[in-house]
Amino acid sequence: MNIEIVTIGDELLLGFTLDSNGAHIARELAAIGVSVSRRTSVGDDATAIADAVREALERTGAVITTGGLGPTSDDLTKPTIAAVFGRAMHMDEAIIEALRQRWVARGWGKELPEANKQQGLIPEGAVVLTNRHGSAPGIWLEDERGRWVVMLPGVPRELRGMFAEEVLPKLRERGGPGASPVVSSTIRTTGVSESALADSLKPLESRLEGLALAFLPGWAGVDLRLTSSGRAAGESAALLERAGAELRVVAGQFAYGAGTDDLAAVVLDQLRSGGMTIAVAESCTGGLLGGRITAIPGSSHFFLGGVIAYSNEVKATQLGVGDDTLIAHGAVSEETAREMATGVRARYRADVAVSITGIAGPDGGTDTKPVGTVCVAVDVRGTVTSSKRQMIGDREEVRLRSTQWALDLVRRQLTATR
Ligand code: AMP
Ligand code: MG
Repeated sequence: MNIEIVTIGDELLLGFTLDSNGAHIARELAAIGVSVSRRTSVGDDATAIADAVREALERTGAVITTGGLGPTSDDLTKPTIAAVFGRAMHMDEAIIEALRQRWVARGWGKELPEANKQQGLIPEGAVVLTNRHGSAPGIWLEDERGRWVVMLPGVPRELRGMFAEEVLPKLRERGGPGASPVVSSTIRTTGVSESALADSLKPLESRLEGLALAFLPGWAGVDLRLTSSGRAAGESAALLERAGAELRVVAGQFAYGAGTDDLAAVVLDQLRSGGMTIAVAESCTGGLLGGRITAIPGSSHFFLGGVIAYSNEVKATQLGVGDDTLIAHGAVSEETAREMATGVRARYRADVAVSITGIAGPDGGTDTKPVGTVCVAVDVRGTVTSSKRQMIGDREEVRLRSTQWALDLVRRQLTATR
């Protein structure tokens, strides 16, 4: 089965709202082996809606829309698509009564506003899909040739609930028991560029047995996603397992996890198995690294605390960074980073300490230390390692990338000393 998704709303075209509904439906359909062949977004415009739905119907005969089912004048989906099917609209009193009861139960008054009453208008021959999460009911409209359109509300919470309760079960029935799910698995890497990774994985690509390999770069690194489609679930799982293991070997030291693993959680696992504690000293990340670590449940057993050493004075007085170091090398230097790490480790009697100092921008860059210059250091029981790098991106991205890189240096040191 092939389906097209049409999402409706001016806000989607203006870029104020990301089409998370389309993404959600696509993911859910993939999981039951239904492929989405096209996603279209149109504004609150009858002609645009009619054209998009008519064309999608001609291609696939199966369309899901979201949006434009509300009670206001910009909600045009139902009458427009009814016209595409050549169906008249009729008033469904049961819908109006349900809306009225909901209105009263919420204490909003005794009378349902006139505007809501148009939500009771239903195309002839349509199946009404119950909305337990909001007011606008969904519609399933099908023609004599079996071509169908499902109309769902735009509010993401309502859409998700209705899709799960009213649409997925029906599609599962139609897809039959033989449908093969689309399954993915992800290997997470960091500290290596997409192109370098692609080069080293080249020899592997011919042995992927039809699995699709995607390179997905972001501030956390490059995710490698393998996707299997058109196979039985068990066969997919075995293939993904084998190919994933091979990818991990080639990605080597750059691979730190799988799925949605957070590097902070990976590092905490290492600390757990080594029975070690950690402390942080942060300048340009201002607590972001400590925030990431403490976002992981159970971090309190291993994370002792940290110092946000933003000014030189705090670096000197709280962490014991030498005035001579600051004068000779500057606050953004490997020398300062090393003394920050050593200082915070001693102060908190931690086994491991990690520090970050850098220029997040947009100001503060110089010829020798441009914006994005970041130094990190790790002190594992007195063995200190440091590194300097040029980060790309805006202030937010430089800060996020810095925390990832600092965590990665910890990970590598702990792997090396294990
Ligand atoms: P509507 O059902 O068209 O009245 O949409 C109600 C609200 O749902 C809009 O104000 C948007 O914030 C949100 N919305 C509509 N379409 C989408 C979409 N495709 N993805 C995410 N949110 C949406
Ligand atoms: Mg709308």
